[in-house]
Amino acid sequence: MSTALGLAIEASAAGDVPVGALVLRNGQVIGRGGNRTVRDQDPTAHAEILAIRQAAQALGSWRLDGCELFVTLEPCAMCAMALLHARLRRVVYGATDPKTGAAGSVLDLFAEPRLNHHTAVAGGVLAEASTRLLRDFFEERRQPYAVVGGVALAAYGILRTTLDLDLAVDRAVQDDAISFMAAAGYETLYRSEGYSNHLHSDPDLGRVDFVYLRGETSQTFFAAVRRVPGPRGRLVPVPSPEHLAAMKIQAMRDDPSRTWQEMADVRALVERADVDRAAVRESFARCGLLERWNELARTL
Ligand SMILES: [Zn+2]
Repeated sequence: MSTALGLAIEASAAGDVPVGALVLRNGQVIGRGGNRTVRDQDPTAHAEILAIRQAAQALGSWRLDGCELFVTLEPCAMCAMALLHARLRRVVYGATDPKTGAAGSVLDLFAEPRLNHHTAVAGGVLAEASTRLLRDFFEERRQPYAVVGGVALAAYGILRTTLDLDLAVDRAVQDDAISFMAAAGYETLYRSEGYSNHLHSDPDLGRVDFVYLRGETSQTFFAAVRRVPGPRGRLVPVPSPEHLAAMKIQAMRDDPSRTWQEMADVRALVERADVDRAAVRESFARCGLLERWNELARTL
């Protein structure tokens, strides 16, 4: 989504309404577009249309079965119909558009049973409502926190279709955070020293998972947190890519069934030019998973 945000910012710099879209197939970007209505004096030059046009050309087919489109803003009716025609597997958008949104705001073409559609739709990929709620909570208490999981990966340009919010916080705030979640209407599904999971019946608030850090680990981790542009350009605190990778390596040690997905994320992080590979190798070694690192390193 942050790559789509980049395209949106480009559109805005050129005088167009800032909207950016990406088409992915098996995790690879095969089409991208930024809104060019003003630049091209073309009323149909919306980001989604340009992105699916490029994807169809890349595939040599008008059918984009199995593809996913990410767009920063809820699609309009023109784009929604084009996306349905293209038979995308899924459409994921960032912000809702109360003026022209056709995925539920003004009308919902994706839910129209009279249209023969194959496309699932999801909004609020960056978990904006829950992010806002928890940001206020931690900032009021002057407690460090960082967004981890899919939202943090998106900040590093790695798209994962998660609608959950995962937060790393210090262990000292555990009781306080859990009471806050209960007061905000979340049901606590699970709680241990290191994790807690919370679910809200309002899909905008959805699921929130906490990871609790303590001692020296917590200090080092929060000292390296950086603020990057998140939903609607607001700054979101995320861990360094090395720390994000370390969390994924620990997660696969704790639950080996997650290895495949976690390794894909670790690979995407390690492929970034600014990542200290020695530090990532060290995290594998600490978890007794050096063999996994060696497999990965051979193919980098
Ligand atoms: Zn449109």
